Amino acid sequence: MYDVAEIRKDFPILERQVHGVPLVYLDNAATSQKPRAVIQALSDYYERYNANVHRGAHTLAIEATDAYEEARAKVARFINAPGPENIVFVRNTTEAINLVAYTWGVANVKAGDRIVVTEMEHHSNLVPWQHVARVNGAELKLIAMAKDYTLDTSDLDELLTPATRLVAITQMSNVLGTITPVADITAAAHRVGALVLIDAAQSVPHMPVDVQALDCDFMAFSGHKMLGPTGIGVLYIRSEVSEQMDPFLRGGEMVLEVTYEDASWNEVPLKFEAGTPNIGDAIALGAAIDYLTALGMDNVREHEVALTRYAMERFAELEEVTTFGPSDLSVRGGVVSFYMSEIHPHDIGQVLDQLGVAIRAGHHCAMPLVRSRLMVPATARASFYLYNTEAEVDVLIDGLNQVLRYFGDAASKRA
Ligand code: PMP
Repeated sequence: MYDVAEIRKDFPILERQVHGVPLVYLDNAATSQKPRAVIQALSDYYERYNANVHRGAHTLAIEATDAYEEARAKVARFINAPGPENIVFVRNTTEAINLVAYTWGVANVKAGDRIVVTEMEHHSNLVPWQHVARVNGAELKLIAMAKDYTLDTSDLDELLTPATRLVAITQMSNVLGTITPVADITAAAHRVGALVLIDAAQSVPHMPVDVQALDCDFMAFSGHKMLGPTGIGVLYIRSEVSEQMDPFLRGGEMVLEVTYEDASWNEVPLKFEAGTPNIGDAIALGAAIDYLTALGMDNVREHEVALTRYAMERFAELEEVTTFGPSDLSVRGGVVSFYMSEIHPHDIGQVLDQLGVAIRAGHHCAMPLVRSRLMVPATARASFYLYNTEAEVDVLIDGLNQVLRYFGDAASKRA
């Protein structure tokens, strides 16, 4: 294990105060904070070797190209992709999934076909598939959530018919923390000839992920949730699939030969990276991966399991608070969504903010799950990362006790 107190010194923002008290940042499922090494990698690029990549013959262009391609290789090693050619840089998870929807999806999903997602999907892994299904005349089916907040895979064999072209599933729910059995679902999907896309926005930052072991065809994740900058994300594509796919955006960089009449495509992955890419942020994502690799993803996961166990124990002390998510920590990440009847999650968020505690309140871009399955208008959500501590969980729980006193008093005065 690593020393959390030492780790925290690497994150300048964790030293700041909010409303005169120390910041307790528990909104990591939305975005993570950045270590100095990442911020430094970004400014190094702009201060020392800013240049466009892949076409320049000068020193700066060569240095920038080498650093950009080295970042791609780091991403590939991090998720055990066969090679850097499997890694496409995009803006974020949302863009990665849309790239698949608008290229592979539109071309391969036919009328009467089936796309399968889960009831736990973030809007970014639901809305693009609603679109493909509507435009191409396919049906969209759901793997249901079980009572214990895991996936109910008991009727998977009926859901996965030979008409199923794609199974698009989250590996970790951003609302419940549920870690889903993606390897088993992938194997079942492949048996009927369907491809599999994994939304790894919440898993890759928090646990070891091996695309070859999972055997998925596509994987999407965002740099900003794993210590990297905003504006850079990753789409992994299995080689046999990417060779067959059309490009998404067309223009410079992604072409090999262009005549006035026609064009041929550059090799994968450049075929999918039209125009000047986000060079600086990709390089800084490489620095984030170095940081995570040095810590060890097993250690990150272990730290978060321990912290979540502690948080769940402390939450259990609060009778008025309902929490959502699996009680089995082997299938749960560091996310605690909670609800207090009578007190709106936004009010909880505001009171906590006054105490320096940053949490999120709302539907967390999973409106159908929150409204139609959890049956609440919104939840409050605390989400942990590698730098959070038990002392911070205590500040959260003290804050929730204050919320209860404050709104409890207000309610009794009204009565
Ligand atoms: N999927 C999941 C599970 C997420 O948690 C998020 C971010 N909240 C996304 C997709 C979308 O990520 P981004 O906004 O970076 O595209």
